[in-house]
Amino acid sequence: MLVREPRAQEGLSEKLPRVVHRLSVIMKPQVVFVLGGPGAGKGTQCAKIVENYSYTHLSAGDLLREERSRTGSEFGQLIDTYIKEGKIVPVEITINLLKKAMEETMKVDEKKFRFLIDGFPRNQDNLQGWNTVMDGKADVKFVLFFDCSNEVCIDRCLERGKSSGRTDDNRASLEKRIQTYLQSTRPIIEQYEKQGKVHKIDASRSVDEVFADVKNILEKES
Ligand code: UDP
Ligand code: MG
Repeated sequence: MLVREPRAQEGLSEKLPRVVHRLSVIMKPQVVFVLGGPGAGKGTQCAKIVENYSYTHLSAGDLLREERSRTGSEFGQLIDTYIKEGKIVPVEITINLLKKAMEETMKVDEKKFRFLIDGFPRNQDNLQGWNTVMDGKADVKFVLFFDCSNEVCIDRCLERGKSSGRTDDNRASLEKRIQTYLQSTRPIIEQYEKQGKVHKIDASRSVDEVFADVKNILEKES
């Protein structure tokens, strides 16, 4: 038999723990955007952050690649072309994937409300889409900007291309990706810089050296 608690007669002091719990349940997603050129080390550093802190890593590129290979996806061909050309996929597609991934993560575990969004927003269209769809639904805390020269970016991606199986880790795609990064993504980083939200990290160093800086930033921000 089901025995109900006599909640109606409870005072505030009894209710409070449940109210506090409820607040944590409806916690708004707290987002860190992770930006930088192709091969700057966004994915690598995000993986290290996840090992050490309670963040969920969402790579916009990975989500798009997943969607590209999902049977029945109406966007597979479009995504494939955009990725090879180093162009940025229309935000309607990307934002839906990101939103769904965030919602699913929080549905499984409501305490997982901290997200690293890697490789997004990459242009004005991405930023507008985010602001429209996520307005009031998530807080962008700050931006981690992994900065390194185009030469380092290209060398790393070509090296990665030997085993990544990615259709865009080749010289022709990389030149286009770098152009897109300089023309479209850098201005987005600059906009966040003006808001005082950017932590710029010299990403040309070793993984561990870069991560030491990342750690310092995360401890200061938390
Ligand atoms: N991409 C996109 N929108 C995004 C993220 C990625 O269109 O929000 C596409 C774009 O064509 C990009 C490619 O996916 O060049 C690979 O992105 P990814 O972030 O995986 O590359 P990385 O910067 O990690 O090398
Ligand atoms: Mg990546």
